[in-house]
Amino acid sequence: MSAPEGSRPANDEAPFASLYEGTLDCVHCGLCLPDCPTYRISGRETSSPRGRIYLMRAVGEGRIPMDEVVAEEMSLCLGCRACESACPSGVEYGHLLEEARAEIVRAGARTGLTASLERFGLRAIVPHRLRLRLLVSLAGLAQRLGLDRLIPPARLLPRVPPRSERRRLPARIAAQGEKRGRVAFFEGCVMPELFGPINHATARVLARNGFEVVVPSGQGCCGALHAHAGDAELAESLHARNETAFSAWGAGAVVLNSAGCGAHLRTRLDGVRDVCELLAEEGLRRPSGRLELRVCYDDPCHLLHGQGVKDAPRELLRSIPGVELVDHDDPGACCGAAGTYNLVQPAMSRAVLERKMESLRAADPDVIATGNPGCLMQLQAGVREWGLRAEVLHPVELLERAYRSDPRDPTRTAQSS
Ligand code: SF4
Ligand code: SF4
Repeated sequence: MSAPEGSRPANDEAPFASLYEGTLDCVHCGLCLPDCPTYRISGRETSSPRGRIYLMRAVGEGRIPMDEVVAEEMSLCLGCRACESACPSGVEYGHLLEEARAEIVRAGARTGLTASLERFGLRAIVPHRLRLRLLVSLAGLAQRLGLDRLIPPARLLPRVPPRSERRRLPARIAAQGEKRGRVAFFEGCVMPELFGPINHATARVLARNGFEVVVPSGQGCCGALHAHAGDAELAESLHARNETAFSAWGAGAVVLNSAGCGAHLRTRLDGVRDVCELLAEEGLRRPSGRLELRVCYDDPCHLLHGQGVKDAPRELLRSIPGVELVDHDDPGACCGAAGTYNLVQPAMSRAVLERKMESLRAADPDVIATGNPGCLMQLQAGVREWGLRAEVLHPVELLERAYRSDPRDPTRTAQSS
């Protein structure tokens, strides 16, 4: 596409020159602005998708420098991609943002203690299973001693599950009943440590639905957090490890329960499916146990906007006898978690969360269901801080409860994985 009137051609020497072509897709219509959380809160054009694209283009043309102001606006973006869903021109905003952040990191334009701590955590802790496990164990100890209240970011952590619930999945979980296929399960990095029971529930629900579940060894962190933070090189090397681990299995699908990992892996690995999407596509074996619950489903941005999965989780929840799916305002709006965003941009993250909690308070559900570890943590922290009575659960946890609440269920007292 050629440069629109008023624009200069890309300056090949300028930092964002490689993004320039992509920014030309934006026709400045502004249709994305009402869906952008940071614009809704700040009211600033530069904190809107259109404003950020304009900044990228201006840097790419060499009209403005790539300085701290530009770096801060790119950092203040949640990366929620609500603007992509709203855009009639097909602007690939998520891709532009990742590229822009990678250039900012390469140029060393993002400085300060928070950025350094984020980089250290993402490089030295997150990809290393044993270090992450040790850190989570220390966080659990701090919670038991009540020391977590002294560290503000620690309020975001859920209760660390006991060690027995943080065990890894076995390498293979047999299908129950008539076998419908074989899937490879992606465990993730944070999920086994902070949400181990959800991984086990996912495997059991897949097995109950006739899927043999294999858990390839050698898999690890998907690199989504690194890509979002501009560490493109490490994100690619983490991906290469997973590509090797999963390509050996030749399973029908790579299944995950974490929307952020799914959106990242979907563009890089064949056959990636969110667990809710797979079960809805293949036809859920409807649970017969009843759960008398009012449930609000809140869309993870990277499932709704990143993968286009909207109806599947709702269909599964509606299929549980006794569950009433309750509407709340704007379930597709970001909750403010956004990977490490709630740590690096705490003020904006809290403002975004506040809107979400107000709408959930008005709906007054028994359960808030969502399918991403960051959203689970953020909403659980919101429930604690705003004093809501709701439990925050992954949809597969509700399915698992429904299967197990059937009095005829043989596994009511024994875990199958
Ligand atoms: S990704 Fe989200 S926060 Fe960023 S510009 Fe788009 S809508 Fe706004
Ligand atoms: S909706 Fe798309 S084309 Fe319109 S201003 Fe937003 S990004 Fe640009």
